[in-house]
Amino acid sequence: MAKEYDLVILGGGTGGYVAAIRASQLGMQVAIVEKGELGGTCLHRGCIPSKALLRSAEVFRQTKEAAEYGVETKDPSLNFNKVQERKNKIVDTLHKGVQGLMKKGKIDVFQGYGRILGPSIFSPMPGTISIEYANGDENTMIVPKNVLIATGSKPKSLPGLEMDGKLIMSSDDALKMETLPASILIVGGGVIGVEWASMLTDFGVDVTVLEYAEQILPTEDKAIALEVEKQLKKRGVTFVKGAKVLPDSLETGDNITISAEKGEAVESYTAEKMLVSVGREANTTNIGIENTDIAVEKGFIKTNAFYQTKESHIYAIGDVIGGMQLAHVASHEGIVAVEHMADENPLALEYDNIPSCIYSSPEAASVGLSEKQATEKGYEVKVGKFPFKAIGKALVHGESEGFVKIVADKKTEDLLGIHMVGPHVTDLISEAGLAKVLDATPWELGHTVHPHPTLSEIVGEAALAVEGKQIHG
Ligand SMILES: Cc1cc2nc3c(=O)[nH]c(=O)nc-3n(C[C@H](O)[C@H](O)[C@H](O)COP(=O)(O)OP(=O)(O)OC[C@H]3O[C@@H](n4cnc5c(N)ncnc54)[C@H](O)[C@@H]3O)c2cc1C
Repeated sequence: MAKEYDLVILGGGTGGYVAAIRASQLGMQVAIVEKGELGGTCLHRGCIPSKALLRSAEVFRQTKEAAEYGVETKDPSLNFNKVQERKNKIVDTLHKGVQGLMKKGKIDVFQGYGRILGPSIFSPMPGTISIEYANGDENTMIVPKNVLIATGSKPKSLPGLEMDGKLIMSSDDALKMETLPASILIVGGGVIGVEWASMLTDFGVDVTVLEYAEQILPTEDKAIALEVEKQLKKRGVTFVKGAKVLPDSLETGDNITISAEKGEAVESYTAEKMLVSVGREANTTNIGIENTDIAVEKGFIKTNAFYQTKESHIYAIGDVIGGMQLAHVASHEGIVAVEHMADENPLALEYDNIPSCIYSSPEAASVGLSEKQATEKGYEVKVGKFPFKAIGKALVHGESEGFVKIVADKKTEDLLGIHMVGPHVTDLISEAGLAKVLDATPWELGHTVHPHPTLSEIVGEAALAVEGKQIHG
C-alpha cells in the first residue's frame, strides 16, 4: 500500500530541505524526493563550491601582495588540485550536515525521480507521487496531503550555442575543471559571470566578459556595477558591454572563436574555453505538471504570495518559481509555504527587504531599490554615499576601495535601497536588511552606534550622508 505523508517535497535543495525541517518542527510527517543529492544546486553546484574557489583565488592574490603588509613570500604558486580538494571537502562536510538534519527531523528521503500523478485535490489520492529509481527498481507510490515543488533550476544557454561541458561550459561544468585554461570567454556579465571573472583573473587566467546589456550586473545600482567593473579591469579582466554574441559564428578547434555584434561593428574573440552564464531555467518539465491545473508563466510555476499554485494543496518555491533566484530566498519561501499549509498565519515575504550578494573581489551587496528603480517608481529620492577610504578598518585591511550608497525617500524619510561595494559588504548588508524590515530611517541608521574601528562604521556614515551630516568625509 502507498505510504501516506502530510507533506511530500519534490527536490531536496536549499528550499526543499529547509521547508522539510520547518514542517517536521510543526509536527508533519514529511518526505523528500531527491533525484540527485540533498543540498541541491547551492551546496553542490552553486553558492558553496563557487565561494570556496573564490576564497582560494583571493588567498592566492593576497599572498602575492603580502609584501605590502611587510610579509615576504617567495614566488607563491597555485596547486589547483588542492584548491579543488578543499572545495570538495567543504561540500562533503556540509552535505553530511544536511543528511544529519534530515535524520534528526525524522524526514524520509527517497533517492529517486519524483513525478506528480494525481490530478487534483478532488481525486481520491490527491497529488499522488511516483518515485522512479535510476537502478530500475520498481516505482514507489506515495500519497501526500500537501505537495511542495522545489525542483530548482538548471543553466540555460543562448539558442544555437550548445554547451559540450568541455570547451563550452556551464557553471556546473566549470566547477569540475581539473586544470585552469590560459584564457576564457565568459558570455554573460551577471552575478555568476562576474564571480567567475573575479576568481579566474585572480588564478591568473586571461578573462574576457561579453555582456549584452550596457551595464555588467544589470540588476544592480549603476554606480555599484561601475565600481566592480573598474576594480576587475584593474586586475586584468576585459569587459565588452552591449555585445550581442552570434552563436552561428562559433568556431572550435584547439581554441574557441566567436563573434559579437556591438553597434554596427562585429568583433571576434578567441580563448581556450568559454563559460556561458546567461541565466537559469526552471526545472518544470517531466515532473507531472500536465497532470494538474498548475499554471506556468514564462517557464516558471505561478503561485500566490504564500506559494500556493492553482491546486491549493500543491505549493512551489525557490528557483522553480523565478524571481530572486537565491538560496536564502528559496529557504524562506519554503518556510512561509509550510507555515501556510499548517495554518500558522505566516507573513508574506517582502522582496524589497531581501539582500542579494555578489562574492567577487570587490564584493557587492544590495537590498531594496536602486536609485534608477526608485526614480522610475515615482519616488523623489535623496542619496547618501560614503567611501571605504575614509574608514580606518578598511585601510588596516588594505582594502579601501568601494563605497556604500543609501537611497531614501525625500518625502517620508523611508529607506528605499542600500547598496554596497567593497570589503566584506556581503556581511555588512545584513544590518541594512534589518533596517528595512524594521522600517528604519537613515536618521535611525546613522544614530546607531557602530563600534570603532570596524567596517560597519561605513553604514552609519552613509546614512548620515543622506543629510550631508557624515563625520569623516
Ligand atoms: C554558480 C552558482 C552560484 C550561486 N551562488 C549563490 C550564492 O552565493 N548565494 C545564493 O543565495 N544563491 C546562489 N546561487 C543560487 C542558488 O544556488 C539557488 O537559488 C538555490 O539553490 C535554489 O534552491 P532551490 O531549492 O529552489 O533549488 P535547487 O537548489 O536547484 O534544488 C532543487 C533540487 O531538486 C532536485 N530535483 C529536480 N527535479 C526533481 C525531480 N523530478 N525529482 C526529484 N528531485 C528533483 C534537484 O536534483 C535539486 O537537488 C548560485 C547558483 C549558481 C548556479
